Amino acid sequence: MALTNTIYNSPVFQQACNQFDLAADILGMDAGLRERTKRPRRCVVVSMPVRMDSGKVEIFEGYRVQHNLSTGPAKGGIRFHHEVTLGEVAALAMWMSWKCSLVGLPYGGAKGGVVVNTRELSQNELERLSRRYMQEITPFIGPNVDIPAPDVGTNEQVMAWMMDTYSNHKGHYDPGVITGKPIALGGSLGRREATGEGVAWFVKAYLEDLGIPPEKTTVVIQGFGNVGSEAALALYQWGAEVIGISDFTGGILNRKGIDLKAALAYVAQHKSLQGFPGGEPVSNEQLLETECTVLIPAALERVITEDNAGKLKCRLLAEGANGPTTNEADRILAERSDIELIPDVLCNSGGVIVSYFEWLQNLQNYYWTKGEVFDKLYRMLAKAKASVDETQKKYQCSRRTAALVLGISRVAEAKAKRGLFP
Ligand code: GLU
Repeated sequence: MALTNTIYNSPVFQQACNQFDLAADILGMDAGLRERTKRPRRCVVVSMPVRMDSGKVEIFEGYRVQHNLSTGPAKGGIRFHHEVTLGEVAALAMWMSWKCSLVGLPYGGAKGGVVVNTRELSQNELERLSRRYMQEITPFIGPNVDIPAPDVGTNEQVMAWMMDTYSNHKGHYDPGVITGKPIALGGSLGRREATGEGVAWFVKAYLEDLGIPPEKTTVVIQGFGNVGSEAALALYQWGAEVIGISDFTGGILNRKGIDLKAALAYVAQHKSLQGFPGGEPVSNEQLLETECTVLIPAALERVITEDNAGKLKCRLLAEGANGPTTNEADRILAERSDIELIPDVLCNSGGVIVSYFEWLQNLQNYYWTKGEVFDKLYRMLAKAKASVDETQKKYQCSRRTAALVLGISRVAEAKAKRGLFP
């Protein structure tokens, strides 16, 4: 049932709702529980006046959507992007609920967003905006309420400023309020690599199931930010060849393999891949349709659509991004037995899992080695993969729906058991 009578209404929110309905149908969920589980619990919209370097004051808009608070404190990143909308943040918050539940984290789901193009801000302006956003949402978050983290357009430094702002409000150091922090401020070893490492772990595990060895694996990655670049490095180290990468300026193809270190150094210097000499320039559309073993969308939502789903030439589609595949594209891919899909809530769950480890370390003031972090991460990923594959067999559904059946059923059960208050 489409959920259109809501302020969240938007194509990406409908996409998340339609995915939800497929899983809820399999679960035979009754209408009341279905609505209660689907709808975001609450949202905050904030207007943030920020003094720019010119002396002028600009007003930015920001959001925090808490989709589910029934199974623990809400958890999810903060996105800084000029096209962020409330509906998009709500969809991303919903996916966080299912992701945390699927992999067994004691969290609900949330997401934040600020409408801003960070490329147009100086470091000082970015700091003032980050602090202002944290100040505005402080009444609604906390280590036991809602714990933000990085997402597209934010990083360790932004998390550090936000943690400092929150701690100043409380009057004491309180690192457990946010994850993805620098190591010096209670960040966890391995958090920066965790999402991309996790994506690579799933890619390797599914390729193993398919009997495809590293030396026969070519990889194309759309998006060369934190997730895409870490996944690229991990798969290269494993022995695969990364033949295509891209960012918002376009893509680079090189059938002989891209020099990833050179690409990262180029991006650090030029702020984008535009003009990178290590391959042939292509558009993002061409990149997605390149013949390869593994295609990893690792940027924004809705890039695999009804227009290109039939033209993909990969064996494995690994969703590093959240929501990269539209409902129409899902239907086309379901007919294509030549493509295996690793759905976002499973594929990129390594990030939030290590965020959970970071929060645990903060609460205990007891810090783990990188080996301990990755050992525990891989165990959780293996357990999640096995449960999704088993559920897929049981219900004979897509792997996405199987993952959502698991994620959604645990949240719905918790809500049903808690009952209604009052
Ligand atoms: N933003 C990341 C995600 O979409 C990480 C969230 C977190 O670590 O809380 O999963």
